[in-house]
Amino acid sequence: MTVTDAPTSSLLERIQPAEGGREIHDPATGELVGRTRQTTVADLDAAVARAKATQPQWAAVSSQERAEALNAAAEALEAHAEELAILLSREQGKPLNGPNARFEVSACVSWLRATASFTLEPEVIVDEESGRSVLHWRPLGVVGAIGPWNWPMMISIWQIAPSLRQGNTVVVKPSGYTPLSVLALIEVLNTALPADVLIAVPGRGDVGERLSAHPDVAKIMFTGSTETGKSIIKTAADTVKRMTMELGGNDAGIVLDDADPKALADDIFWGAFINTGQTCAALKRLYVPESLYDQVCEALVEVAQQSPMGVGLEEQNVLGPVQNKPQWQIVADLVASAKESGARILIGGDPDENATGYFYPTTLVADIDPHQRLVTEEQFGPALPIVKYTDLDQAIEWANELDVALGSSVWGTDPDRTEDVAARLVAGSTWINKHGAIDPRVPFGGAKESGFGVEFGIHGLKEVSQPHVITR
Ligand code: NDP
Repeated sequence: MTVTDAPTSSLLERIQPAEGGREIHDPATGELVGRTRQTTVADLDAAVARAKATQPQWAAVSSQERAEALNAAAEALEAHAEELAILLSREQGKPLNGPNARFEVSACVSWLRATASFTLEPEVIVDEESGRSVLHWRPLGVVGAIGPWNWPMMISIWQIAPSLRQGNTVVVKPSGYTPLSVLALIEVLNTALPADVLIAVPGRGDVGERLSAHPDVAKIMFTGSTETGKSIIKTAADTVKRMTMELGGNDAGIVLDDADPKALADDIFWGAFINTGQTCAALKRLYVPESLYDQVCEALVEVAQQSPMGVGLEEQNVLGPVQNKPQWQIVADLVASAKESGARILIGGDPDENATGYFYPTTLVADIDPHQRLVTEEQFGPALPIVKYTDLDQAIEWANELDVALGSSVWGTDPDRTEDVAARLVAGSTWINKHGAIDPRVPFGGAKESGFGVEFGIHGLKEVSQPHVITR
């Protein structure tokens, strides 16, 4: 077994308070990772004031120079990639390998570079003898970014990069569970950015609430639970803030009866278990036709058996612990309720309550009622319910019947048929023969209570810009 050492991180030393601070522990081992400073509401006000004061200068910088600054920030991240990945692995719990910590840091680099390459040009809407109207995209001002604990670095970059690209300044409130990863990320980014265009305010929900209410914050970009999203929408209403809400999901995947289970098993498994299932747009309920049911179940069990779970710094692992105890409990309760309902556990489902760390075994649940809680509620962890269907229309109805609709997927060999089924699914994104395959050029966002607004690409730049039409 190869174990990567957890070196004393110089970045960690730079972001920790000289003394005191809140302790952050590794969810896999319980070891102390570091200490975080805690911002008060007064500190937050001061940070917003600095960001507001700097914003006009940043907006006045040419688009080309802002792109160069983002590229320089990407280079700085690349230079610190391994150090950042180790810190992320220890704080969040995700393994270094697989679609996890090293992947997340490298995605931050590529998202920064991609965002630097996009430009939002003015649009000539009308140009005729009697008049000319041109739509310009102005910066909004200060953007408040509130992030979750599952992909703390990557989601922060999704919020930071387009905002800075468009000439906004950004105040970031990381999740209380994973502040060190985001503080370290921002420490590195700031080696390449002018002072005060990007400020971190590590604190708990009260700091996020003040950011959402702050009269000098023009926009909130939020990723997290639907419940907190609703609360932010209410808090932000008084100042008519712009908002991008990327909230919870419970993505359905529908396997069609012409699919090849063996060929698809790996992609279905990782569509569901990426980041140990703690991903907003992960596949969280799988619908499989009766004719392929046993084959799909067997193929998924095989992949699960070949995917080691354990401490993130042990190089062979590709699955890790659940990040925190409340989330572990949600997964445990939902699987327990599925078991009690008579569903069949194909693998996992029996956590060692005395183990060190918040490990929940990779769990596949078959013969489950389509309205059982493990199917209809978001588990956000390593457990996948597999629902049998005999009628495709019925499966589509089940897929569409929840209040959330972030992503979805269709699996089959006939391109026309998969496209037809995809068109009948309600979601922000539907993938064919893949799940959660995001791309910095392709807009991503939710339908229904999974949120509103899109991130990424040119469409994402528009979300952090004020449209301004000049007509003559
Ligand atoms: P939350 O929605 O509670 O937290 C997300 C962020 O919002 C955190 O930074 C949090 O701060 C902050 N926050 C909390 N309360 C407020 C408030 N009133 N105003 C402004 N900001 C606030 O998510 P959790 O991390 O607690 O996870 C709970 C559930 O959310 C999970 O079970 C999962 O279903 C879902 N989730 C979805 C994610 C996604 O990517 N869509 C990501 C993570 C979770 P603090 O952490 O300090 O409380």
